[in-house]
Amino acid sequence: MLSALCSGINYDAFDFAIREQILSFFNDFLRCNCRDSPLCGCPERKFAEKILELRENGLDHRQISSFLLDEYGIEIFPADILSFLEDSVHVLEAISDVARLRGRQELYRQTGEHIRLIER
Ligand SMILES: [Zn+2]
Repeated sequence: MLSALCSGINYDAFDFAIREQILSFFNDFLRCNCRDSPLCGCPERKFAEKILELRENGLDHRQISSFLLDEYGIEIFPADILSFLEDSVHVLEAISDVARLRGRQELYRQTGEHIRLIER
């Protein structure tokens, strides 16, 4: 994370902006009360959730990449975001199949809805 935040940034020109980005990152991903924080898995989970939320709100993989760079100073290539989104759909499809087989209607409905929002 720190290497991502620090790469290619001119500190003299962007000192305030960088501080804002680091603050946003901490607020959005590193606030939890787990004993093992930040090694509890929450930051990774919240970060993955953020990317899915941005996609479900209508941003495409390029726009998500720009957003992460502007908001947190984190550079992730659009192609990597696209492949993360595809992997997420595969996981959701697997959950959806199991939910259907087990008669978990609500879970089946929710996974279907998330798949629809990510794929549109
Ligand atoms: Zn945690």
